[in-house]
Amino acid sequence: TGFKHDYAKIKKLDSGKFGKVYLCEDSVSREQFAVKRLKKEAFKDTKNIRQLYNEVSILRKVKHPNIIKLFKIYEDNATISLVLEYIPNGNLLSRIQRRIKFTANEVMIFSKKLFETLRYLHSQGIIHRDLKPENILMTSSVSDCEFKLCDFGLACYVDKALKSKSGSPGYIAPEILRGNSYSTKADIFSAGVIIYILISGIPPFYSKQSEKVMKKNKDCKVSFSKNEFKGISPLLIQFITELLNPEPAFRPTAEQVLGHSWMHLACCSES
Ligand code: ADP
Ligand code: MG
Ligand code: MG
Repeated sequence: TGFKHDYAKIKKLDSGKFGKVYLCEDSVSREQFAVKRLKKEAFKDTKNIRQLYNEVSILRKVKHPNIIKLFKIYEDNATISLVLEYIPNGNLLSRIQRRIKFTANEVMIFSKKLFETLRYLHSQGIIHRDLKPENILMTSSVSDCEFKLCDFGLACYVDKALKSKSGSPGYIAPEILRGNSYSTKADIFSAGVIIYILISGIPPFYSKQSEKVMKKNKDCKVSFSKNEFKGISPLLIQFITELLNPEPAFRPTAEQVLGHSWMHLACCSES
């Protein structure tokens, strides 16, 4: 059997740089899945093709309640199709665009889950390298806190001192942009950018021109405008500042973040 025999395509959900994501239905069980179809042609050079198989092998290995599940893989000469669990409520970016701000309590619960997910990934020696709202899928239409992390297209293992520049402008740890070696701390920085946005509704490194976003991201000067951060506790501002520390050695690990006093407020308020 092949993909066309096993699944019926229902609609296109999204399209990315290397392929498209479709909503599909199992022809027999009628269960719905999201299928990420990657065109091999887009990965022509050998460095990229390794990256393509990386996404598959890392997704196959990970198992966590907040990480998207990979069920099956189909491969032919031109494409690889990843059959993923379907998350029907859109990604965090569209949620941000609609609601603009989240309450500190919602962000607390969300952050706790995000750092638990990162603690898991990092304990497996995996760096996601592309944490951003588009890659966080919302599992519930009512609660803002339930999510599944997706898109392991840039994920990699930490075993070697990494130097290749990788990530999305505005979310990249400055050590990566400076061309230094980096590790799991790079994900902590990107998570800090996401939390900054959830609280304030605005990105910490912003310009209409993408080159300027990159420059601000690299310079890494973070300010908390009085307007957007009105009423936000100094403890939360200190927490975000620690996540966005330009020096990775001084940035906390996921484990340390989960021990932060701001996180303990989340533990109490969740029950
Ligand atoms: P890319 O590497 O091209 O960014 P992603 O894996 O991030 O590909 O998928 C692109 C978009 O498709 C996501 O931002 C999300 O909106 C949608 N998407 C991806 N996987 C799923 C899924 N399992 N369920 C629902 N939507 C998904
Ligand atoms: Mg993506
Ligand atoms: Mg990707």
